[in-house]
Amino acid sequence: MTDNPKLNKVLIVEDSESVAYALAHNVERVLHLEPIVADTFATARTALTKVWSETLVAILDLSLPDAPNGEVVDFVLETNIPVVVLTGTLNESMRDQLLAKNIVDYVIKQSPSEVNYVIQLIHRMQLNPKIKILVVDDSKTIRASVRTMLETHRYQVFEAGDGEEALTVLEENSGIVLVLTDYNMPNMDGIQLISKIREKYTRSELSIIGLSSANSHSISINFLKMGANDFLNRPYPREEFYLRITQNIEYIEYVRKVEDQANKDSLTELYNRKYLFEMGGKLFSNARRGSLKLTTIMVDIDFFKHVNDTYGHLAGDIAIKHIATILKRSFRSGDVVARYGGEEFCMICVNLDEQDAVILCERIREEVDASSFNYGGNPISVTVSIGLSTKRFNKFSDMLASADQALYRAKRSGRNQVKAA
Ligand code: GH3
Ligand code: MG
Ligand code: MG
Repeated sequence: MTDNPKLNKVLIVEDSESVAYALAHNVERVLHLEPIVADTFATARTALTKVWSETLVAILDLSLPDAPNGEVVDFVLETNIPVVVLTGTLNESMRDQLLAKNIVDYVIKQSPSEVNYVIQLIHRMQLNPKIKILVVDDSKTIRASVRTMLETHRYQVFEAGDGEEALTVLEENSGIVLVLTDYNMPNMDGIQLISKIREKYTRSELSIIGLSSANSHSISINFLKMGANDFLNRPYPREEFYLRITQNIEYIEYVRKVEDQANKDSLTELYNRKYLFEMGGKLFSNARRGSLKLTTIMVDIDFFKHVNDTYGHLAGDIAIKHIATILKRSFRSGDVVARYGGEEFCMICVNLDEQDAVILCERIREEVDASSFNYGGNPISVTVSIGLSTKRFNKFSDMLASADQALYRAKRSGRNQVKAA
C-alpha cells in the first residue's frame, strides 16, 4: 500500500468501454485501489475536481470524443498527477511529442496483455512512495531534472552535491536503496564515492547507477569495476532512464524477498531458528566488545499437545500464529523475535535491563492469558511460560541455555509464569 493513505484512487479516462472495464476491474481487484472512470474529457474534469488530492495516477486515452488531440493529458499534467498515456496508434513524431512531456509511460492498446502492463505500472507507483533514491550531482539543474523524473514515478528523492555530502546523506537517512551518481564532482568524485559506499553496503543491499557521457567508455568501465550495479550514458532517453531505475529497484526487492524467505518462518513470519543463531551470534560478539547489554527471552506455550489433541493440528497452528502476533507487537524493531521450534519462541533484546525485561515478560504473559483466538466459531485460550536471562556469558549458546533453564523452572512451578535466571 502507499505511504499516503489518501492516494487510493486511480483516474481512468477512456472511451472504449471494454478497455475501461478491464482496467477498472483489475485496479480494484488486484491493487485494491478505487477506480474513477470517465469516458469524456468533460466528465474527467468534473471527477478530477473532487478526487485530485487522492489520485495516485491517471490512465488517459490520448484521443477522446471531446478531446481528440491529447488535451486531457496536458490538463491532468497541470495538476501534478502522474500520467500514463493510452493510445491506439503512435507514429514517431507523436511519440517524441509525448515523451517530451513529463509522463510516467505510454502504452499502445494492441492486445489484452497491455492491461497487465498498466496494472504493473500502477502497482510500482503504489510501492514507490516508500522507496528512497539519492541523486548525486554537482549541477543543481541536473539534480532538479532527475528529481522531477523520479517524482513523476512517486519515488522519495534525496540530493547531494558531491561524494562527501552523499556519504552524509546516506548516514543520516536509513533505507536508501538506490544511488544515482555523476562522475566529475568537487571534493569526492563518483568513483571515489562508490568505493566508499562499497566498504559498507554490497551490490545487493544498495544499488548504484553511475552516470557518464557517451564518449567516455573508460568511466563506465571504472564505475562497474568499483562496484556500480549499472551505468547510464548521458544524454539518455527518458524511457531508458526509467527502465534502468525500475530494473535496479526490482533487483534489490528481489534479493530482499529471497532473504526474507530464507530467514523467516512461513507460518508466523517471525525470524527462523537459523536467523536467530546468525543474528544472535553477531549481537553477542558486539555486546562482548562494547557496552551493549543483551537479554534472552524464551516463551513456550503450555500444554500445547492438549490443543492439538482436542481441537486438531489446524487449531494448534492458529494458536502459534496468535502468540506470534502478540510477540511481534511487544518488541522493538532492533530486537530479534524468532520462532525457535514448534511452539517455542526466542527473543533477543538490546539494552533492556532485568527489571524492565521482567515487567515486559509479565505483560506478555498476562496478555496471552487474557486473550483468545477463534477456531470454528469457538474462542480458544492458551497460556505461556516464560524464561529470561540478562546474565553475561562467553558463548551465545550459554545465554540461550540460561534462559531455557529459567523457562524450565517456570514450567515446573506450575506454568503460566515468568522466571528470570
Ligand atoms: P508443556 O506445557 O510442557 O510445554 O507441554 P506441551 O504439550 O506444550 O509441550 P510438548 O513439547 O510436549 O509438545 C509440543 C507439541 O507441539 C508437540 C508437537 O506435535 C506440537 N507441534 C510442534 N510444532 C507444531 C506446529 O507447527 N503446529 C502444530 N499444530 N503443532 C506443533
Ligand atoms: Mg509447550
Ligand atoms: Mg515445547
